[in-house]
Amino acid sequence: MNYKYIVVGAGLAGLTVAERIANVLEEKVLIIEKRSHIGGNVYDSYNEEGILIHNYGPHIFHTNDREVYRYLSRFTAWNDFWHRVLTYVDGNLIPMPITVETINKLYNLNLSCNEVEEFLKKQALPINEIKTSKDVALSKVGTDIYQKIFETYTKKQWGIDPGEIDTSVISRIPIRLNRDTRYFNDRYQGMPKYGFTKMCEKMIANKKIKILLNTDYKEVIEDLQYDKLVYTGPADYYYNYKYGEMAYRSIDFVFETFNREEYQPAPVVNYPNDYDFTRITEFKKLTGQDHKMTTILKEYPCSDGEPYYPFPTKECKEQFNLYQAEIKREKKVIFLGRLAEYRYYNMDAVVRRALDIFHGGFNG
Ligand code: FAD
Ligand code: UDP
Repeated sequence: MNYKYIVVGAGLAGLTVAERIANVLEEKVLIIEKRSHIGGNVYDSYNEEGILIHNYGPHIFHTNDREVYRYLSRFTAWNDFWHRVLTYVDGNLIPMPITVETINKLYNLNLSCNEVEEFLKKQALPINEIKTSKDVALSKVGTDIYQKIFETYTKKQWGIDPGEIDTSVISRIPIRLNRDTRYFNDRYQGMPKYGFTKMCEKMIANKKIKILLNTDYKEVIEDLQYDKLVYTGPADYYYNYKYGEMAYRSIDFVFETFNREEYQPAPVVNYPNDYDFTRITEFKKLTGQDHKMTTILKEYPCSDGEPYYPFPTKECKEQFNLYQAEIKREKKVIFLGRLAEYRYYNMDAVVRRALDIFHGGFNG
């Protein structure tokens, strides 16, 4: 069969490209997806009790990129939502990320913003060259806060010490010298009014887009002709692991439903030091759904299983460079997204990347 365009993977990366091909170029496009549904990791669905859950972990849309926000707003309205996280330290629930409130609660103080700035300056360790996530944390908040909030959480999440992890990981968490306890700084934040899956369905509501679910692209690709393939699966799999398997971090998602209205006082509670899971999400507090029962999710990070997070170490980056050199030589295949580019993209960054690839001479 002949398709000018084929997209492998129906996550946000693949769907954005397919949407552009169908609606801007007005060309036919085939999406091949190995799972039984579209959306990739942003997929959400109603469980047996009728509660909307995020099947692959809590997803909150947030961005400073106006164009990406406006692009996705064509496919969904948004519920106003400012994400808040509490973290369980020394038997207390305190606001995350680190703000003036966090420091005051952690140390039972009543410092002003300026005093917290002074306090953190005294705690911070002088580190000449910031090379790892551990250096990032120690140089900003010092040993005690590092140990209480970052060290064990990060070990659980990644299975290795923060001293071996790229600076970008802990740098995702802001440190604020004010009382703003929102988790993200971004100007645009929200939850799709009817969920992410509904948003994704709208993105590909065009007869020019055909979708083949439950199919690994390798099962069918030999029988297809195409001019351009946009590949959003793992790069190592595409190249038959010729430079070895890339490490990914996986998560065991464990859902529990309770016959009561509320489980915890925030949408997400982090557990840096207790238990084997990293965090608990209560979905109704993300989605705003009214229901007399409630469903929560505990995340147990692990090394085997579906690839969710590219591994943020120097060695993995070097290994990926070998694949990257092959990718650069491809004429008909574009590698895009969290798995294919081995990058810790958020949703907005992946959509931005997809739009850039499409608008930057995709046709050529
Ligand atoms: P994916 O969603 O992984 O899509 C890739 C698709 O390719 C998958 O559907 C996969 O099944 C398919 N595929 C793979 N191999 C093959 C094959 N051989 N043949 C056919 N199909 C194949 N981002 C935020 O902005 N905010 C958040 O709050 C947030 N929370 C997150 C929480 C968790 C636990 C995780 C894991 C991620 C989170 N993200 C969040 C990131 C977000 O999920 C990603 O940015 C986004 O999903 C990446 O889209 P993608 O299309 O690149 O990848
Ligand atoms: N992190 C931490 N303690 C926390 C929250 C996060 O040490 O309470 C670290 C951890 O290394 C994590 C990283 O900061 O992987 C990024 O956190 P984020 O909440 O952005 O992770 P994600 O939602 O992408 O899993």
